[in-house]
Amino acid sequence: MTGLVFSLHSWFHSNTWLVIRNLALFVVAVFWIATIAWVYKDARRRIEDPWLVGMSVLLGVVPFVGPLIYMLFRPPEYPDDVRERELEIRAMEQRLRTKEHCPVCRAEVDTTYLVCPVCTTKLKQACESCKAPLEPLWQICPYCETPVARQPAVDLDATVGLGGDPWGALEPTPAVRTPRKRRSPPPK
Ligand SMILES: [Zn+2]
Ligand SMILES: [Zn+2]
Repeated sequence: MTGLVFSLHSWFHSNTWLVIRNLALFVVAVFWIATIAWVYKDARRRIEDPWLVGMSVLLGVVPFVGPLIYMLFRPPEYPDDVRERELEIRAMEQRLRTKEHCPVCRAEVDTTYLVCPVCTTKLKQACESCKAPLEPLWQICPYCETPVARQPAVDLDATVGLGGDPWGALEPTPAVRTPRKRRSPPPK
């Protein structure tokens, strides 16, 4: 018994044990430094605020638990990815918004055009008051609140009701007309 204890004791003081222990400590230390470096690199890519990057590295210095906590709370996306996605969405919206075609010559026309610049077909009616281009279904100008004058071809009832005077239908009835508070400029 005494012999076994003595041999264990002498083994823990032997050079072999010292070498193994130092090697293990060295590996642990290298791993620890590697986790700190990883936290720093990851935080630099995910976080733009340098102060927050510094805080993340400080957290990462806590051996092994720090990087784990950092992984739980780090931003889920890279800012570059977020920016790229936003740009893509904006480009898609633009593509959907502006593409309109002249019904006669199929030339590409802007949504704000009153006539087709290629074949001079009338595309939209202009607001009487602010000259903004109006959609065919609109009953009131959304920019200056002026009621839209009906075109004779569209509003047959009004034409008949006014004793066959097609131009009378163009004038909005005074009761409908709202007071003009302000004239906002047409949108660009
Ligand atoms: Zn055209
Ligand atoms: Zn208007």
